Amino acid sequence: MPTKDPHSTMPTAVRVRYAPSPTGRQHIGGVRTALFNYLHAKSLGGSFVLRVEDTDPERSRPRFEQDLYEQLAWLGIRWDEGPDIGGDYGPYRSSERQALYRSALEQLIAQGAAYPCYCSPEELAAQRQEALASGRPPRYSGHCRNAEAREALRRRGRSPVIRFRVPEGRRIAFRDLIRGEVSHESEDVGDFSLYRSRDESLEGGRAFYNLAVVVDDHAMGISDVLRGEEHLSNTPRQLLLYEALGYSPPRFGHLSLIVSPDGSKLSKRHGDTSIDYYAQEGYLPEAIVAYTATLGWAPGRNPERNSLEDLISLFSLRRLSSNPSTFDEKRMEWFNQRRLQRAERGRIADLMRPRLSEAYGRWEAAEGTAHDRETWYCHLVGAAQEEATTLSDMVRLCAFALASERPEMSAEAAGTLEDQWAPAVLAAFLKELSEEALATPQSANEWLTGLRHAIRDSDGLRGRQVMFPIRAALTGSLRGPCLGIVTSLLGQSRCRERVEEVLKACQPPL
Ligand code: GLU
Repeated sequence: MPTKDPHSTMPTAVRVRYAPSPTGRQHIGGVRTALFNYLHAKSLGGSFVLRVEDTDPERSRPRFEQDLYEQLAWLGIRWDEGPDIGGDYGPYRSSERQALYRSALEQLIAQGAAYPCYCSPEELAAQRQEALASGRPPRYSGHCRNAEAREALRRRGRSPVIRFRVPEGRRIAFRDLIRGEVSHESEDVGDFSLYRSRDESLEGGRAFYNLAVVVDDHAMGISDVLRGEEHLSNTPRQLLLYEALGYSPPRFGHLSLIVSPDGSKLSKRHGDTSIDYYAQEGYLPEAIVAYTATLGWAPGRNPERNSLEDLISLFSLRRLSSNPSTFDEKRMEWFNQRRLQRAERGRIADLMRPRLSEAYGRWEAAEGTAHDRETWYCHLVGAAQEEATTLSDMVRLCAFALASERPEMSAEAAGTLEDQWAPAVLAAFLKELSEEALATPQSANEWLTGLRHAIRDSDGLRGRQVMFPIRAALTGSLRGPCLGIVTSLLGQSRCRERVEEVLKACQPPL
């Protein structure tokens, strides 16, 4: 299959993988890794593999794996092979691949490229301290490379960790798909752990990440490994393993670090960045995808408009940046607002039903208005959709019509009602109010325009001076959908009640 990428070294069978550990919720960084892998594969006609790296049984949870499937599917990122759908290179869960890791490990031990280490955690910590104190990198000291030293510790009945014997005096270089030439000195890489075992027999042990990932990427025919910058220091270790096992390595690309707007590493401190949080807040999946694509890439002029298909046709690894990218929640919110405004009304109406029922219980929509229930509901959703940033925001914006009472008055709105002309404006509103005027949002708009002009002509008040007190009295807020919609959705009797109540409070008792 011809590829659109002019890299002459790029073979046609691109196979990439997203390999999360199911030890927690999916965050924006993981989604970015999944997305860029997906886009890379799809833009070159390749395959996107989902592999679950449950190498740590204590921390892995089936529910996080389930979330992973649901969230990727919700975002529209579809995998070609994975634990749930199978494929030619399965199984796709690390925990089911231990036999493969064992045989690679046995090969390494037989070659003398790996050895058991019996140092205790306390001894390892002391070795690290010692290295740091004498200005050396805090890597493993190599104590158990020596067979006698190792034997002495083994006799104490300790369980071993199998370590890789890192060759000395080597420069480990590779061409990163995003960063270009990268190199490490083998002196900086300590003999790292491959496997934890109960005893020398290796029975009942388990492979650590670096061994598992190399065995799996090789066995699954992965051509390109795209992952976060935090894995950059693992790459020299993995390259040494590829060499020792006689495998040819994939290409590696390390995506930019994602930082907070103040430049620090993104963390809990900057709020929740998990996908389920954004889903709950009512972000649309297409907005999350379009925004996530901007983290380390500048995809087109109006990036908020990009669909997955657009992103596939725009994607090229060579356009990705290695500079840190800023996760700016405000900007993502803006993306969402734009997508929400453009989203099909019926879809949003359906998404809002459970949210509104949860917030307001069973609401009697059309009562006391000229609309039937469904028309009323669609007008309400449409009006909130115009204004809102998220679906949760829409819930708040619908409060004026759905809450059993007028929402609590904001300070700003209360301030408007203290203006000296407010009572006269509200009195004029009441006087002119009629069922006929509120029959449709459009008729209500025309009626309000007429009212505004009349008050301007008689009292010289400007538009806001008329509209703000009315809006405040009806909704408790100065923000919200246009007043024509508000009045028409509330209907004559609710408008009257709310304005009368405010007027009563405005007027000093006689
Ligand atoms: N399981 C690793 C993680 O969740 C994957 C690292 C890799 O892609 O090699 O970070």
